[in-house]
Amino acid sequence: MYKEIAGISEKQLESVVELFNPCMDDYLYVFDLKRDYYRISSNALTRFALPSDSFYDATEKHKLFVYSDDIDILQNELKSIMSHEKSFHDLHYRWLDKEGNAIWINCRGRVIYDENGAPGLLVGCINEIGNKQKADNISGLLGESSLSEYVKQYGDTFPSGFFMRIGIDDFSSINGNLGMKYGDFILKRTAECISKNLRCDQKLFRIVADEFMIVDFSGNSIKDAHELYRQLRQSVSDFIEENKYQTVYTISAGILDTAIITGGYEGVMKLSEFALKEAKNEGKNSYYVFEQEKYDAFVRKRKITRALHHAVNNNFEGFEAYFQPIVDAKTYNLIGAEALMRFTLTSEDGVTPGERISPAEFIPLLEDTGLIIPTGKWMLNEAIDMCSKWQKYIPDFRVNINLSYIQISKSCVLDEILLSIKMHHLNSSSVGIELTESGYLDTNPHIRKLWDGLKKNGVKIILDDFGTGYSNLHCLGELNPTYIKIDRTFTIKALNNEYERELLTHIIEMSHSLGLSICIEGIETKKELMDLRNLEPDYIQGYLFGKPYSIEEFYERFIQPKNTEKQ
Ligand code: C2E
Ligand code: CA
Ligand code: CA
Repeated sequence: MYKEIAGISEKQLESVVELFNPCMDDYLYVFDLKRDYYRISSNALTRFALPSDSFYDATEKHKLFVYSDDIDILQNELKSIMSHEKSFHDLHYRWLDKEGNAIWINCRGRVIYDENGAPGLLVGCINEIGNKQKADNISGLLGESSLSEYVKQYGDTFPSGFFMRIGIDDFSSINGNLGMKYGDFILKRTAECISKNLRCDQKLFRIVADEFMIVDFSGNSIKDAHELYRQLRQSVSDFIEENKYQTVYTISAGILDTAIITGGYEGVMKLSEFALKEAKNEGKNSYYVFEQEKYDAFVRKRKITRALHHAVNNNFEGFEAYFQPIVDAKTYNLIGAEALMRFTLTSEDGVTPGERISPAEFIPLLEDTGLIIPTGKWMLNEAIDMCSKWQKYIPDFRVNINLSYIQISKSCVLDEILLSIKMHHLNSSSVGIELTESGYLDTNPHIRKLWDGLKKNGVKIILDDFGTGYSNLHCLGELNPTYIKIDRTFTIKALNNEYERELLTHIIEMSHSLGLSICIEGIETKKELMDLRNLEPDYIQGYLFGKPYSIEEFYERFIQPKNTEKQ
């Protein structure tokens, strides 16, 4: 008879175990510590590698169904119970299922003492924590919620060491080509490749589909993390060879120094996700060590992208069309303007309101997201609208509009240009389309089609940024643009270097002999103007004649009658 449960015999307890068996997913047990006898719900027999639902020599027979790495943990726990250190047992460890897979269990039990006060029975319940996503039975590792529990106990400051988030590269193609079951096999073997390289003070978790997290709180350095990654990669290569190259795959890793993490567990997950993504962006089969600066740039990019989406969906709020004057190189008279897009963050964007973002930053984001299609269309209409309004004051005023390749290849931009010109009753020769010079200008079929369509309809075609890229002289004759814009970087080089100056002189001479005009961009000072005058360009655009201005300011400075006379 035991003190704590006076009135209930051990036999009756065993009956309770069996009585509740059909009603539970968990398993009740009675462990008689004195007789080394174990009794467990009979449904556990169908799941685990148990010898029977009741057996003697329990301590020895644990080896049959407890995962070998965890036997020591269990035996230490039993020692603590026997030496009165613990009266309640609560342990996460692994049992083997009937196929020999390691299954995470949480075993909890209460110690019942005999009349002499010695530990006599351990009575309690076992549940599979994998069922609660605390562990993952495919890889045999603890899962994300266990990682969260483990990391959260440290709050916001972690012991020194590192986190390493590991991902299998292109795992979906393994699943897709060889099936989910084979994918599970790869996951399991990869988990083993990782586990076997870890020291006992490093912990491993499986977090999502094909990602694992190593937590090292034992003071190891980032250099140690590099070395560990190399070992893991070697183990995976060895496994691939052993597996007779049935599938060849690689792993990438994002590494975080625990000292630089802010934001506790959420911070760890966010930053490690970024670090792993960077490792994959840098070509996979490699590691990336988290850098705050790069992360800040990523966060900024994400915020601006959100702001751009918001603006596009709110009537282009925050976008503005600016205009920069273009003058005749001989008379300095205004001939027209280049329309240039501007974007300012509004307060709803959740980022510093009122910040003006440079086109060099937001145009690539518009292109990446495809938002350049609606904004480009909006710009086109703004520019054509202003051109038609300003022609009332300066009848041969022309406007230049920049087009992105995304607009050309993924939208009906030619139709949009022609329709806008028609709606504004403009002469098509008043509109110039600027296309950046690049190596495939003459071969890309979308560009060819646009180019031919614009020409047929009398719209001017301008080859932009000449001298920055391929400077494909051969295609100048074939493409036959209306004029060529020489980029400021080329202009600057020509001002400072005799060879570049010779080159620019020849390009201009050749263009003129082909009947093409030249616009020199980026003239800032009178000296620059004088130095370049004898190259005989046709048009000039640069701060010396005017910066890009808002509609109102451009009107005041260049359009309204009193000022037009000054031009
Ligand atoms: P871009 O087409 O080469 O435009 C000329 C750029 O040179 C403008 O920069 C203009 O402000 C700058 N610039 C003009 N004169 C001077 C000068 O004297 N000195 C210096 N240092 N710079 C000068 P911005 O406005 O920052 O635009 C940058 C680029 O963004 C443009 O280069 C163009 O590629 C792109 N972009 C701007 N607006 C649009 C647009 O509506 N659509 C598309 N697709 N791209 C645009
Ligand atoms: Ca341009
Ligand atoms: Ca340009």
